[in-house]
Amino acid sequence: MRILLVEDDRMIGEAVAVALKDAAYAVDWVHDGAEANRVLEQGEHQAVLLDLGLPRRDGLEVLRRMRQAGNNVPVIVITARDSVEDRIKGLDYGADDYLVKPFDVNELLARLRAVARRRGGQAAPLLSNGLVSLDPATREARCGDVVESLSAREFALLQALLLRPGAILTRAELEERIYGWNEEVESNAVDFLIHGVRRKLGAEVIKNVRGAGWMVAKLVANLATESDEGKRTE
Ligand code: CA
Repeated sequence: MRILLVEDDRMIGEAVAVALKDAAYAVDWVHDGAEANRVLEQGEHQAVLLDLGLPRRDGLEVLRRMRQAGNNVPVIVITARDSVEDRIKGLDYGADDYLVKPFDVNELLARLRAVARRRGGQAAPLLSNGLVSLDPATREARCGDVVESLSAREFALLQALLLRPGAILTRAELEERIYGWNEEVESNAVDFLIHGVRRKLGAEVIKNVRGAGWMVAKLVANLATESDEGKRTE
C-alpha cells in the first residue's frame, strides 16, 4: 500500500516515514500544499497523511480540493491544531480520521489500518479472500494450517491483491503499490516477491493471468466469518 505523507516538519516527517516503511508501506513524502495538490492529481496513492499547517497551501485547502475533484482516497489529518472547531472542520472537509500532534506512531499505524480496512469494505481486522488471510497488525499470513510471517514487501504485495480479490493487477500496478518514488525497482522484483509468497503459503495463493498480471481468487466464503473459520481449523 502506497502512502502520501504531506508534512513540512522534517523531524516529524522523518519519524513517520521510517515507521511507515518499517510497517511495510511504500511512502512518498512531500513538504508543502502545492506539491501535495500536484501529486494527488496523479492518483498514485492509497492513503494520505496530511498535516494542516503547510507552506504554499493550507492542508484544509488541499483536502477540500481533492474531495471536490472526486478523489476519495482515505485521508488522516495529522496536526498540532487541536481545537474542536479545527477537528470538526477537518472531518467536514472529508478527512477520514484526525490525529493531534504529538501522537504515538503506533496509534497512527493502527488508524491507518482501520481506514484501509473500511475502504476495502471490510470491518474485520483480517484481510481475506476465503483461502488466504492476512493480518495487517502482525504481517502474518494464513492459508489453511500454514501460518507464515511475510517480509515487508511480500506483505505489501499480498495486501494489494487481497484488497481487491478477483481483480487482476498488472506488474506496474503492483510495483506502484509496493515501492516509493526513490526506490529502485529491479525488473523481476514482482516475480521474486510472488515466488516468496507462494513458497511460504502455497502456489495456489496467487494466480498468474498470462500476459495480464496476477490476482487472488474471489471466493464465496464470507469475509466476516474468517476469524471463526480460523478457530475451526485450529
Ligand atoms: Ca506543519
